[in-house]
Amino acid sequence: MKCIVLLSGGLDSAVSLAWAKRNRYPILCLTFLYGQKAAHKEKEAATMLADHFQIDISVVEITFLKEITKTALVNDNLEVPNASELEDEKEGRERAKKVWVPNRNGIFLNIAAAYAESLEAYNVIAGFNKEEALTFPDNSPEFIQAVNGSLEFSTLNKVKILSPTQNLNKEEIVTLGHKLDLPFDYIWSCYLGEEKMCGECESCQRLLRALKNN
Ligand SMILES: [Zn+2]
Repeated sequence: MKCIVLLSGGLDSAVSLAWAKRNRYPILCLTFLYGQKAAHKEKEAATMLADHFQIDISVVEITFLKEITKTALVNDNLEVPNASELEDEKEGRERAKKVWVPNRNGIFLNIAAAYAESLEAYNVIAGFNKEEALTFPDNSPEFIQAVNGSLEFSTLNKVKILSPTQNLNKEEIVTLGHKLDLPFDYIWSCYLGEEKMCGECESCQRLLRALKNN
């Protein structure tokens, strides 16, 4: 079945792409730039991954999102919190707010669904995960289900979001990536856009932990 893959270049989306290549018929990867600090690195990673799996890629700029976003992921004057600052769940929620972008996943999924409908694809593949669903409501299975309910009305071919990683934690996602021969060297998981991944932000920490435990 034809599908579109949301590809940020991070672990979850990269594994989802590898899964789609094996189990579906991906016709296009979509990468979104919205002023995030890691934009150029994410684009580079996504392009390498798409090339590796021989799938076309479109890079979509959402400039208004950059303009209205005040959080640390985008704003140069704010520092992205590192994981050691915030250990427990309540603090996790506070941290989530610092990197929250207004309706980001809602916007991404709906743009991807428009591409899917236009290209006669039935699925949008997205890399959500169980760990982040705890702090980010727009990663949860309930969210995917709700968006799918909405897409039944807003797309004529009833596009469906599918996330092969949604019930997995990072460690399990790494394991799946190995099974699918994912080139891990291409991944960019850092919130920042420095030369190398910082190793300290929440996203880096989650990846490092998962790799270590594998
Ligand atoms: Zn980092």
